[in-house]
Amino acid sequence: MAKRIHTFRQGSAERPADALEALGSKGANLALLAALDLPVPPGFTITSGAWREASSTPNELPAGLRVDVGTAVKWLEDVTGRVFDGATRPLLLAVRTGARTPIPGLAETVLDVGLNDRTVETIAAELGDAGFAFRSYRRFLESFAGLVFGIDGAEFEDVFEAERLDGGWNGVEPGEAREWRRLVSRYHAFIEEVAGLPLPQSPIEQLLSVVEASFSSWRSPLARSFRTLHGIPENAGLSVTAHAMIFNERDMNSGTGRARSRDFATGRAALTGEFGFGGRSATETRFGEGGPIGELADFARAGAEPAFPADIQALAAHVARLEAHFGDAVEVDFMVGDSELFLLQSRVAKRSPAEAVRIAIGLVEDDLIDEDEAILRIDPTSLDQLLHPAIVNRDSLQVIGKGLPASPGAASGAIAFTTEDARRAAGEGRAVILVRNETHPEDIHGMHVSEGILTIRGGTTSHAAVVARGIGKPCVTGAGALRLDAARGLLTAGTLSLKAGDTITIDGSSGEVILGGAELERPSLAGELARLMDFADRARRMVVRTNAETPAEARAARAFGAEGIGLCRTEHMFFQGDRVPAMRRMILAPDEKGRREALAELLPFQRSDFVELFEIMAGLPVTIRLLDPPLHEFLPKGEAEIAEVASQFGIEERVLADRIAKLEEFNPMLGHRGCRLAISHPEIVEVQARAIFEAAIEAEKRSGAAVVPEIMVPLVGLKAELDFVKARVDEVAQLVMAERGQSLDYRVGTMIELPRAIVRADAIAEVADFFSFGTNDLTQTVFGISRDDAANFLSTYERKGIIARDPFQSVDVEGVGELIALGVEKARRTRPDIVLGVCGEQGGDPASIAFFEQTGLDYVSCSPFRVPVARIAAAQAAIRISRSLKGPGVKGRGRLAPAGE
Ligand code: PEP
Ligand code: MG
Repeated sequence: MAKRIHTFRQGSAERPADALEALGSKGANLALLAALDLPVPPGFTITSGAWREASSTPNELPAGLRVDVGTAVKWLEDVTGRVFDGATRPLLLAVRTGARTPIPGLAETVLDVGLNDRTVETIAAELGDAGFAFRSYRRFLESFAGLVFGIDGAEFEDVFEAERLDGGWNGVEPGEAREWRRLVSRYHAFIEEVAGLPLPQSPIEQLLSVVEASFSSWRSPLARSFRTLHGIPENAGLSVTAHAMIFNERDMNSGTGRARSRDFATGRAALTGEFGFGGRSATETRFGEGGPIGELADFARAGAEPAFPADIQALAAHVARLEAHFGDAVEVDFMVGDSELFLLQSRVAKRSPAEAVRIAIGLVEDDLIDEDEAILRIDPTSLDQLLHPAIVNRDSLQVIGKGLPASPGAASGAIAFTTEDARRAAGEGRAVILVRNETHPEDIHGMHVSEGILTIRGGTTSHAAVVARGIGKPCVTGAGALRLDAARGLLTAGTLSLKAGDTITIDGSSGEVILGGAELERPSLAGELARLMDFADRARRMVVRTNAETPAEARAARAFGAEGIGLCRTEHMFFQGDRVPAMRRMILAPDEKGRREALAELLPFQRSDFVELFEIMAGLPVTIRLLDPPLHEFLPKGEAEIAEVASQFGIEERVLADRIAKLEEFNPMLGHRGCRLAISHPEIVEVQARAIFEAAIEAEKRSGAAVVPEIMVPLVGLKAELDFVKARVDEVAQLVMAERGQSLDYRVGTMIELPRAIVRADAIAEVADFFSFGTNDLTQTVFGISRDDAANFLSTYERKGIIARDPFQSVDVEGVGELIALGVEKARRTRPDIVLGVCGEQGGDPASIAFFEQTGLDYVSCSPFRVPVARIAAAQAAIRISRSLKGPGVKGRGRLAPAGE
């Protein structure tokens, strides 16, 4: 039988190799503190192994354990110089139940085990404080009876009340020892009446009863269901720690507090925390804010407050010592009893994303960790919260409803109740909030053009929430107090009615819906966050580009550190208001001549858009994708819109409707789109290529920075497709060079988003300067799952454990990933210097980025707000790979703490 009980005292602790498992988190932590020679109350922990032994022994605690408990108590008596049931200095224990991870439903702590009718008098006499001694005894009786006999604490209130009336004392508790004694004997009688046996007077029996009841709490319904829910094995078991009582609630020389090793507002080393004197709440006296260790806030400074009753320099030193041990900011629970300081528990401190960044920088400055370790300490996705707009001044804002914070950030805009309205208003340059009862895949375009999304129904994993997070838009879901009457176009909040076009603000970080606009602050990469980004840039190998079409997106991405544009979806440029008619004319034209006329109208728009993007990117690579989506996406929908467009074009409604019907496809995503459009209508490529080349020359002239445009062909499956389109592009390049008398450097590459393109990657690489893996379409085509319909059932797949994560958010490493790796290998075989990147949504997902690093891609491209996330994630991936090659234990001390901490 392994050792059942492990003892600890300042300076020494019996710590098994599996401390966390055997001693539980509390026991293991106390043992660690003791081993580090920090002041802990002496005590011992009964292991989970002993619990297992007891669980298989019916009725009562195994004899061996009873003997071992007796031995441990004897040891503790020797260490403390106190004795269980002693006529002087009686030993009292605090008994705490713990497990590897905290489990609700386990036994609560029982304090003052060892108090009985005799020892209470001894303590009262020794301290000269009967009130304190009996108050403790009363609490012990109640918690013992609650745990061991299952007597509800509320029942004692009636007993207490009855005694107050009979005893004739008026205060909140008895004033004299005599009155306390009467109360205690009434408690005894009540317990015996309800439990059928008296509360044991023998301290060792008390302790054994508490241990036995604590062991049984493993089987409480709450603990059971928690274990089922969290997959905690039934035989994991609990441990019980008993340590000498600290009289922390007695007087102004005692108290309870929590101390941290850093000031979380600055990330600097400083003792901070709070302390409550003698039983008062621990928030009453804060200390140490802002001051470095050594210049601690003076407890007396607050005027009326008494001074901190223990050695605060020692506390600061202990906390700093623990921080150095963990290599991270720590939080410590401590107690002071009669001016003596004890540490009860320590942990790596919880922190908000902003605090995490400040602390990581602070730890580097203090040389506790290195830059790489600082990067690894940050959860890249948590940066999302720091990088979205926030409301600056909330004072005068009128909150009209509250829903779930589904996607972070705040946004103001005019209400639009339909995707069509949202697109129209956005096309006119207005900021829009899309308000729906719930969203569906066809709302995606409306969501894209909106500043934010509000839904009346749905949770944080509803379609709206998932899509909004994916595209980085603020979103509030489940705002049930609001009513949306879609038919009448009314949003009501109580007596207030809002219609389309009225302005609201949503805060996707708090879930609030606010009437009217609000002042918003755009985040920036300043201060510690900027420094962390510098660290990341030094550590990463992959380049981080952005997916951007508009100047605003391109500027935002540059400010977030994007190193070029990896995907400019040109079709998005045509969705804007003044361009849609020309685009429609092009699509609806019956012949090439008509298309060329419409395209001639579009050329200047495209050219000026590209000039602007090239200028913003100032010489960084810009990848422009030729027209990709099925053309029907641009056409009017519904009778009213068709009638409107027909009259605009001066044609009959019926003729327009016929033309639209002809363009309709059963399966547009697999239909006439991508390079297939370019092959059917080469004039589209010609105009787009011309716009790109002319813009490059223009931008170069204006800024002086060399522009090397990258033209990307979408949805290639056959090498011959790329040959065909590339030939058109090259022709136009020659023409423009001849016209302008200027040479042009450019690249032509392709998206890789079809399985056939992967299989033929070696052949396709013969003509492609670069590949960009389009993991949105690639996932769609590899899985055979429509990306627009996937949300309807993939969440069920996740819930039922069929897939771990939505492959449209995080790359499916085993399937899609394996194919990407094959494509990379084949491409490099043909063309070792081919540039390889990814531009699907997964390009901004940290887990996917780790995979792309392993696969050796050259860059990832993601939405602007994701760029900092990607910079950190790419750095983490590179660091992890280099550590796995070099082995652990590089510069930083990191989290190399032994088990059980
Ligand atoms: C892709 O398919 O991954 C991609 C980036 O292109 P889109 O999302 O525009 O189809
Ligand atoms: Mg695609």
